[in-house]
Amino acid sequence: MTRLIFLGPPGAGKGTQAKLLADLLEIPHISTGDILRSAIAQATPLGKKAKSYMEKGELVPDELLLDLVCDRLKQPDAHKGWILDGFPRNVSQAAFLEKLLQELNQVFDYAVNLDVPDEVLMSRLLGRGRHDDNEQTVRRRLEVYRNETEPLIGFYSERSSLKVIDGDRSVEEVTQSLQQVVAS
Ligand code: AMP
Repeated sequence: MTRLIFLGPPGAGKGTQAKLLADLLEIPHISTGDILRSAIAQATPLGKKAKSYMEKGELVPDELLLDLVCDRLKQPDAHKGWILDGFPRNVSQAAFLEKLLQELNQVFDYAVNLDVPDEVLMSRLLGRGRHDDNEQTVRRRLEVYRNETEPLIGFYSERSSLKVIDGDRSVEEVTQSLQQVVAS
């Protein structure tokens, strides 16, 4: 049974690695970014509310996501493990998740931080061509990451559940390190 929380700045390869590892382990890859993008594509009420925040590189308000994550972790396929990618994104989401997991009687294995130097992040993000990847949005996403999400490294390291992985390597090498973490 594997339960992992993926941290790391935008462009660190979180989404790619989380998906690869989830496929290998045959557990769900739960990406709040993917859920929001699909809500926008389908123009659901959630998508309509989230769109402007995402386009600006801001975090979507917590209240749009908390119930959604709660429901998703209660789905039958999540009983055999999960990888959370992009949630939590700030300390209040992390506190919410901590309480939720207690209620569900679940313990996560590790919060994994994919570590990549800033200049590499910038060039990866600008080369990616996603809708919310224009330069201004990218800068704002990195800034929001520093202010809101990076403090989670301290949050999880205080709980002795942090693993830092060098994300500035080939996709295969990073996946291998992650598999070692899972096996540890
Ligand atoms: P991602 O695909 O994880 O990079 O997320 C893309 C965008 O979706 C972010 O820039 C945020 O606007 C929004 N988003 C994704 N996850 C969260 C979250 N946990 N809290 C708030 N906003 C989020």
